[in-house]
Amino acid sequence: MIRKTVICCLTIVFFAAAAATQNLPDQRSDVTALTLLLRLYDTIAAKNPGYDDTLKEIAALDSQKQEARLTVLAGRNSHDVQITALIDTLMASPVYKMFRRIDPEVHRRLLAALPYGTIGDTSEIGQIQLELFRHRKSLAALFKTVSAVNIDQAVSVAKRWAPPGDYRTPSIRYILYGSNDAYARDSAVGFDLYRVIMTKRLAPDWYNKLDSIPPAEIEAVLAHEFQHVFAHSFLWPMTNYFDTWQKQWEDFILRQTVSEGVATACDPPSGLKKALFEDTVIVEFWLREFERVVGLVRRDQITGDSADAWLARSAFYATLPLLDDYMKRTYPAGNPRVAAEMQITDHPSSIYVLGWWMISHIDATPGGHDLVIELLTEPHKLFDLYNATVTDPKLKIAL
Ligand SMILES: [Zn+2]
Repeated sequence: MIRKTVICCLTIVFFAAAAATQNLPDQRSDVTALTLLLRLYDTIAAKNPGYDDTLKEIAALDSQKQEARLTVLAGRNSHDVQITALIDTLMASPVYKMFRRIDPEVHRRLLAALPYGTIGDTSEIGQIQLELFRHRKSLAALFKTVSAVNIDQAVSVAKRWAPPGDYRTPSIRYILYGSNDAYARDSAVGFDLYRVIMTKRLAPDWYNKLDSIPPAEIEAVLAHEFQHVFAHSFLWPMTNYFDTWQKQWEDFILRQTVSEGVATACDPPSGLKKALFEDTVIVEFWLREFERVVGLVRRDQITGDSADAWLARSAFYATLPLLDDYMKRTYPAGNPRVAAEMQITDHPSSIYVLGWWMISHIDATPGGHDLVIELLTEPHKLFDLYNATVTDPKLKIAL
């Protein structure tokens, strides 16, 4: 079943050496994991001299011999005291503990396999780590980008979308990983620079332009995550109690819809993402799906596992036919550039599309902004407040 996160305070570890050498002006930014990763890459490169020639040699072998040779090379790294100590320290840094999708054992193996990788390992993270390793000299520019971020600006945007109050600025823990976005937990924000920022760039030479990423792009994502932290105690009260999973499930998706809708207002969609999130065919699809599945839950005609499975699919797999359909309707002659952008844009998932659609409609009405803030403490008013903003019956939600 779905569990909400429990907020508690973690000690923020700040890597002092990183601040001194990289000239980071803001101590709320924790770059421990970036510093350690770059040090690990350099150490692995130093301990595997001439690895480019070795790779050429290996490429000439048959596949069985290749595998044997690569296994030996990766094994050498995993027995090197300095490399394993660095990997251990990296994996113990707070941001690695924040991200639930990281399997420590798999990640240890992938890091130890650098700079060769292993035959047959086509895992996404393995390939990303190889790519990052090969561009390691360019990655130092990221510190300059991160240091140019105006954290106070992100705080002020997030505060506009939270009830009035004194909020402590969350710490920001940066990571270069590949399968995580930005994520708020325990009064801190974990931020995967690879996934959130780097994959949004298509130009092949963008590794040379890491210091030209607009700080506003990072600030907007931070504002979204800060809003989650500020609104958490209002939207997820500890006293919330339900006697059935059905009521809990319905309450959860409602709160999630409000939560992501309001947070998205801090970083409103633009470009292709906006087009997808505001496409009425997609919006209507999710309105009908919400009605259908919540109806099944209320009538006790679906199991908790199936309802959870629907929610999980609605975040990604169920969006793929929606994307295909949108492409066919919008670009009947085909458009490869847009198709390429499709690979990297946010998927139009149920919670995010309906959250943004409903909250932006409510906010646009007279006095709507106050109503949006009220929804953070009274999320059960969402559907009524939203229905009052649309006249087309197909765009209303019958719940
Ligand atoms: Zn969010």
